[in-house]
Amino acid sequence: MIPRPDSHQEMREALRALCAEFPAEYHRKHDEAATYPVEFIDALTRAGWLAAMIPEDYGGSGLGLTEATVVMEEINRSGGNAGHCHGQMYNMGTLLRHGSAQQKAFYLPKIASGELRLQSMAVTEPTTGTDTTRLKTTAVRKGDRFVVNGQKVWISRIQHSDLMILLARTTPLAEVRKKSEGLSVFLVDLRQALGKGMSVKPIRNMVNHETNELFFDNLEIPAECLIGEEGKGFRYILDGLNAERTLIAAECIGDGWWFVDKVTGYAKERIVFDRPIGQNQGVQFPIARSYVNISAANLMRFEAARKFDAREDCGAEANMAKLLAADASWEAANACIQFHGGFGFAAEYDVERKFRETRLYQVAPISTNLILSYVAEHILGLPRSF
Ligand SMILES: Cc1cc2nc3c(=O)[nH]c(=O)nc-3n(C[C@H](O)[C@H](O)[C@H](O)COP(=O)(O)OP(=O)(O)OC[C@H]3O[C@@H](n4cnc5c(N)ncnc54)[C@H](O)[C@@H]3O)c2cc1C
Repeated sequence: MIPRPDSHQEMREALRALCAEFPAEYHRKHDEAATYPVEFIDALTRAGWLAAMIPEDYGGSGLGLTEATVVMEEINRSGGNAGHCHGQMYNMGTLLRHGSAQQKAFYLPKIASGELRLQSMAVTEPTTGTDTTRLKTTAVRKGDRFVVNGQKVWISRIQHSDLMILLARTTPLAEVRKKSEGLSVFLVDLRQALGKGMSVKPIRNMVNHETNELFFDNLEIPAECLIGEEGKGFRYILDGLNAERTLIAAECIGDGWWFVDKVTGYAKERIVFDRPIGQNQGVQFPIARSYVNISAANLMRFEAARKFDAREDCGAEANMAKLLAADASWEAANACIQFHGGFGFAAEYDVERKFRETRLYQVAPISTNLILSYVAEHILGLPRSF
């Protein structure tokens, strides 16, 4: 058992008991069929784990980001993939922080119970990518409604969500002082939008991750869907990113432990040249190095979560945790597949599946380069490059 520097053992044991009901074969079957693990996500929802961060007044558990990261870590550590459900954990944060009292009272209890799923957030666009403030989807006010036109790409879990956070431009770029102004956030009811101005095209991809292209053609949404003030949406989205990055870091840590456990067990048992392959230092060292790097990333993840929960600025730690954890899990993934030899490529070992899953976090929800750019500019004070 790998030691972990935290005091959430009771919580971990409860999560492990739930996750154990969904063994590797379950996740493998869904990966092969590219289907959504409905039963697993339902079980997590019923047990209240995905409502960890919703305040008790709204029917959630009122726990901190620290505990929420433990939930995500344990899902991935068990061989599952929190990417199927992490949106439900953090997308509600935009509503919680910036929504009106009525919006919160109406939506949050239903999100906490799982009656409503707020699993999707639509930011990325095909022609502008990481250059978010130049996004082209517009929402134009017409009386008591906004009319939305444009396109999004890579928007996850739409087919398993009732609500979606949408970032769209409400004031043309040419009319704002700063390009981060004039963007607004909306809570879109997908049940009312689909087929009535919004259409969805699934994207087949390397992971069993339900993600889509979205098309808006004069989609009308009620003006009450606006979250917070018109034109301030970019800041609202930024406010949620530290939590998202810390949660994803924890998923990578969970993957990292999974790879190290898996390859350590295999390296002890696989006999080649009359001895376990793990007796060779050429095999030991990459595994040991992965363990060292996951352990270090884990400390940064807990520091980011601690600062977030103490309402301190955690931008630096959240970004660094995401980068360190994504790199450490990828390093562990490579050691794991390498030392499984040919068997690393066989689906029944689950290594190739987890390898594909953890690779995503070099790119999404923010690429490694953009984190380094954040550190260079915002922490080191180097000149802005774009
Ligand atoms: C499976 C999956 C699920 C996703 N889910 C969602 C979702 O639910 N909602 C959502 O809004 N988005 C989602 N995304 C989108 C994801 O956030 C973006 O793919 C990611 O932010 C990178 O943007 P891009 O793909 O447009 O790459 P680009 O912006 O085109 O960048 C391409 C590459 O160039 C590099 N690059 C770009 N600019 C610079 C620079 N200035 N300096 C150095 N390097 C640079 C980047 O690091 C990157 O590696 C998802 C993506 C995937 C693959």
